Amino acid sequence: MTTLHPETLAIRSGIHRTPFNEHGEAMYLTSSFVFDSAAQAAARFSGAEPGMIYARFTNPSVNAFEERLAEMEGAERGVAFASGMAAIMATVMGLMRAGEHIVASRSIFGSTVQLFTNILGKFGIETTFVSPTDPEEWRAAVRPNTRLFFVESPSNPLTEVSDIAALAQIAHQHGAWLAVDNCFCTPILQRPLDLGADIIIHSATKYIDGQGRVLGGAVLGTNALMEGVYTFLRTAGPTLSAFNAWVLFKGLETLAVRMQAHSAGALALATWLEAQPQVARVFYPGLPSHPQHALAMRQQTTGGGIVAFELKGGKDAAWRLIDATEIMSITANLGDTKTTITHPASTTHSRMTAEQRAAAGISDGLIRIAVGLEHIDDLKADLARGL
Ligand SMILES: *Cc1c(COP(=O)(O)O)cnc(C)c1O
Repeated sequence: MTTLHPETLAIRSGIHRTPFNEHGEAMYLTSSFVFDSAAQAAARFSGAEPGMIYARFTNPSVNAFEERLAEMEGAERGVAFASGMAAIMATVMGLMRAGEHIVASRSIFGSTVQLFTNILGKFGIETTFVSPTDPEEWRAAVRPNTRLFFVESPSNPLTEVSDIAALAQIAHQHGAWLAVDNCFCTPILQRPLDLGADIIIHSATKYIDGQGRVLGGAVLGTNALMEGVYTFLRTAGPTLSAFNAWVLFKGLETLAVRMQAHSAGALALATWLEAQPQVARVFYPGLPSHPQHALAMRQQTTGGGIVAFELKGGKDAAWRLIDATEIMSITANLGDTKTTITHPASTTHSRMTAEQRAAAGISDGLIRIAVGLEHIDDLKADLARGL
C-alpha cells in the first residue's frame, strides 16, 4: 500500500479480514490469548510462529494502530506505547546504554528535558542541549560516544523550525541516529524519514487522537531499530491499552482533514494577529515573516496548527487577554478540536529560571494558541475582547 497517499492510508491501512470481523476493526479487550496446543504455545513464545501471546506486547487492536501509523510515516515498523513520554523513554532504553550521549534541541517538550536530565542522567546517559536552528552547534556538541540526536520541529511554543535533512546528515557522519518528535506535524504535514531521520516519535495524545480523549504514543523506524524498542516494551510494559489503540486508530481516519483545518485556522489567526497594534511579534512558520519560513515550506506542507505571539504589554497584557476569552480553553494541551490558550512563562515553562526563559526567548508577554476547529471569526472575536 506504500504508493497510496497518507490520507488514503489513514483510512484503508491496518485493516485485515479475520474470522471474527469482516474488517478486523474489532477491539480486543483481553489480556492473554489461548493456544490450540502445547506445541503452538511453544512456537508462539519462541517466535517461530507469529501471532498473539499476551497483551503486554501483542494485541490486534494495538497492532492495527501501529501498522496504520507506520504506513503513513513510510516506516517499516511502529511500536505503540501508553503515552508520548513512554515512547521517548523506550527509544532511549531500547537503543542506548550507560556511558552514551545525546545531543538534543534546547526547545523540546518540558518533560523530555526532565527525562533526559534528571532521570537518564542518573543512569549515566548525558545530554547536551543545543540550538534548534543552528546545525553547526549540533556538530560541535558531538562526542565519540554520541548515539542519538533528538529534535522537535516546529518547536513549542516559538515554532522554531529545524533543518531535519541537515541534522540527519551530521548525525550519520558521526554514527548517531536522528530521532524526530513529530507530534506537532503528524505525517500529514511532515514525514521525517523522507528527510533522512531514523526514528519518529509521537505523542498520539495530541493531534492523532484529536479530541482530547486518550493518551498514547508511538516510535517508528526500521525493523532493526524497532526490535530494540519493542524488546523494551515487551519486558518493561509501558503498553498502550486496546481501547486507546482503537480510539487512535479511528482518529487517524480524520487526521488529514483535521490537520488541513487546524492549519488554515492558524494561518488566518496568525495573519490577523500580525495586523494588531498591541502585538509585538507573531511566531508562525506559515508567515513570510517567520525566520525559517522557506525551510518550513520545503519541509512541511503547511505551517501547522500552533501560533505564538508576544504582546507589547508584557505579563499583565497577556493574562488580561487570556482571562477575557470566553471560548478558548485555558490549558496547556494541544491538538484538540477545542482551541487552547496558554501563557508559557507561568505554566509550561515556569520550571525554568527567568534567565533560562530569557535565553530561550520565552518572554512574559508570550501567548501560545493551539488553534482548534471552531469558526475563525469566533476565535478572532474572542481574542479581540482582551486586546
Ligand atoms: C505532549 C507531548 C509529549 C508527551 O506526550 P504524552 O502523551 O503527554 O506523554 C511529547 N512531545 C511533545 C512535542 C508533546 O507535545
